[in-house]
Amino acid sequence: MRKLGGGTLVIATHNSGKLKEISALLEPYGLKCISAGSLGLPEPPETGTSFVENALIKARSAAEASGLAALADDSGLAVDALGGRPGVYTADWAERQWFEGEPGRDWYMAMGKVEGMLQQLGPQTDRCAAFHCVLAIAWPDGQQAVYEGKCPGSLTWPPRGEMGFGYDPVFIPEGRKETFAEIDPSEKHAISHRAHAFAKLVKDQFGT
Ligand code: IMP
Repeated sequence: MRKLGGGTLVIATHNSGKLKEISALLEPYGLKCISAGSLGLPEPPETGTSFVENALIKARSAAEASGLAALADDSGLAVDALGGRPGVYTADWAERQWFEGEPGRDWYMAMGKVEGMLQQLGPQTDRCAAFHCVLAIAWPDGQQAVYEGKCPGSLTWPPRGEMGFGYDPVFIPEGRKETFAEIDPSEKHAISHRAHAFAKLVKDQFGT
């Protein structure tokens, strides 16, 4: 399989937080990371029905438009009793179309939507869920590599904790009592779905 050498890697994101986090992880391996946003690359529609498909759509689009190797990630929450939903629609479930004239995301609403569906299924409903992260690398010659990470756990209600983002306040990782939003971010980063996917990428690409 194709390997990343030194040189420049395009990070297929327009989110500066993600660029910073991913660059910090890859720069020790001699890679210079630049974002698709800073190169003015278009954001392709995420039309896939799985995390793998969406990560590949983003990585392929950035590699083809830039002529450089590109890395993309796609992540979300899959709830067992809801057949894996919200899945690739995790961010969409927080979309507040128009509220006080402003579009935006409401994570409390999204967590409430998941909880409402679980409660409708009855008090004995299985509350197992997992965060998933897929990292995809695409090269301009058409080669590609995919790494999947998963953090299993369960959902609680009401939300607890002030740290983290998204669905963190209702997610308790396996083996813990606290939600992701009550766990120190450095500790969360060591056990998260993203950490697992990155560990696989680094082992495969750099042999460490
Ligand atoms: P995307 O990968 O940027 O498309 O984002 C997927 C969505 O999944 C995010 O907007 C978050 O709501 C959710 N998500 C992904 N990872 C986490 C996490 O570590 N904690 C909480 N929510 C997450």
